Amino acid sequence: MSFVVKCLDCGHTTPYYPASVNCPRCNSQWRDVEYDYEAIAKTMPAQIAGRPFDMWRYRELLPVRSPNPVLSLGEGGTPLIQAVNLGMMLGCPNIYIKDERQGPTGSFKDRQAAVTIAALKEAGITEMVAASTGNVAISYSAYAARASIKLWAFVTSLVPAVKMREIALYGSQVVKVTGSYDQAKQVAAEFARQRNLYQDMGARTLTSVEAMKTIGYEIAEQLTALIGLNNNHAGKPRPIWRMPDWYIQSVSGGMGPLGVAKSFHEMKQMGLIDKLPAIAVIQAEGCAPMVQAWSLGKDKAEPVTSPRTHIETLATGDPGRTYTLLYKQVKESGGTFESVSDEEAFRAMHVLAKMEGISSEPAAAVGFAGLFKLVRAGVIKSTDVVVVNCTGHTMPAEPFVLGDNWARNVVLPSQARKDETPQDGLLSALSNIAPDRFPRVAIVDDSPETRRLIRRILQSQGNFTIYEASGGKEGLKIINQERPDLVILDLMMPEMDGFSVLDALKAKPETASIPVIVATAKELTAEEKGRLKGQIQTLMQKGDFLSDEFLEEVRTLLG
Ligand SMILES: *Cc1c(COP(=O)(O)O)cnc(C)c1O
Ligand SMILES: [Zn+2]
Repeated sequence: MSFVVKCLDCGHTTPYYPASVNCPRCNSQWRDVEYDYEAIAKTMPAQIAGRPFDMWRYRELLPVRSPNPVLSLGEGGTPLIQAVNLGMMLGCPNIYIKDERQGPTGSFKDRQAAVTIAALKEAGITEMVAASTGNVAISYSAYAARASIKLWAFVTSLVPAVKMREIALYGSQVVKVTGSYDQAKQVAAEFARQRNLYQDMGARTLTSVEAMKTIGYEIAEQLTALIGLNNNHAGKPRPIWRMPDWYIQSVSGGMGPLGVAKSFHEMKQMGLIDKLPAIAVIQAEGCAPMVQAWSLGKDKAEPVTSPRTHIETLATGDPGRTYTLLYKQVKESGGTFESVSDEEAFRAMHVLAKMEGISSEPAAAVGFAGLFKLVRAGVIKSTDVVVVNCTGHTMPAEPFVLGDNWARNVVLPSQARKDETPQDGLLSALSNIAPDRFPRVAIVDDSPETRRLIRRILQSQGNFTIYEASGGKEGLKIINQERPDLVILDLMMPEMDGFSVLDALKAKPETASIPVIVATAKELTAEEKGRLKGQIQTLMQKGDFLSDEFLEEVRTLLG
């Protein structure tokens, strides 16, 4: 495999040695790996067809001379999952999740660790230093263990203790630094300098950026298999892979999207794709130097010296030159930088788990909160194909997300009373789990899909007794019979529409005061709005309602 390292500042090229981190001509540490793209373009598509679906599939485009299968933990090759329920909720059906939780240590850092450790092993390096907000050190520790490399892991004291213990479990030396992540990086760098040890240098670590490219290649292959090519490449040569319209990722230092963006350019250059996706980079509001700079139109970020976010994984206050490089990529791609509050991220984490069965760590949820924001703002269109990187697995953030009362207790009597069979004891214990009466909600909608979605949203939030009707007549009958506490009503239904249902409800004293939420896909005329005025509590646009807002309404109305 042939590749060279090219200096970003003076253009000088050298062979690649992991331990030499400066350009020999100008001393810059900002460099890039270049491959023989022309040759690779000719051979790669055919070659990869016969390889397993993991990140080494793209080995011609990674700076490791001879990948050693013995070091592998099965990194890469994570699934691309369609988010059907989220798509319905957002009115944006083509949302896909690149599930990086399924990496060997549960985050996308496994890619960078796998390639970096492989290169270090190849170069005979036996000891290294890394500063981390948690996940980098976990991944490096696992791969370093396999490669018998000693790792010194510098973490801030805010990193959750479970993460620190995992690092220690792999045999790495954890060094807790009481200070910011940027300070931990400085301490680690000084330690490495004094001992002359190899150190991870974030986006200046060539292997790390190169490793992240594999996310882009996998998305291209997976999306093509899932939805095929689009047909508008008139006159141009037909690409072999499909790109999404958007790639969304939560960031700290920004290495992930930098590597992924490089893969997009490589694929374009090799004629494998015909367009570049827009890149959306999402930060936590309490530590969003990139978003601040972007909003001012600047390509240099002012460091945030004391990050204010609970999401420690994303606490890089000073992104340095990585931001400048990323700024260029995002701008050229037609993408954007956006920030979300911790609260929005925790809410998104909950929605993602409840709606899609995906339990992500808060840092990953930041990307999804960003998705919600961009869809709501109309930046992402309903027809866009969107891939969100779900960067990492759940870490104990439950206290923030779930609050108290997230479980119910069943205490079984240790010995059944004489007059009681064991079943009785069990039944009486179980009867404590579910109170007799739950709030009762009638859903009147002719679309089974919509009824299912609303039912799912309600049930994910708590216990409800739900009645469903597929039309106005049936709905009216059920409402009269059951007298629910709330009605969720569609307007456009054949036979008897929502307007007539409302008229009938309001005409009867027994049903006149039942609160009604109208959920409609229809753009209402002024006259129709007039008809609803005073008759209903809330008007929700279908597909436009996010479960949280909807639920807040439900909760308020049910008192
Ligand atoms: C590292 C990390 C990020 C941020 O990644 P960068 O691209 O390096 O900024 C986001 N989420 C998780 C779970 C991470 O581990
Ligand atoms: Zn140089």
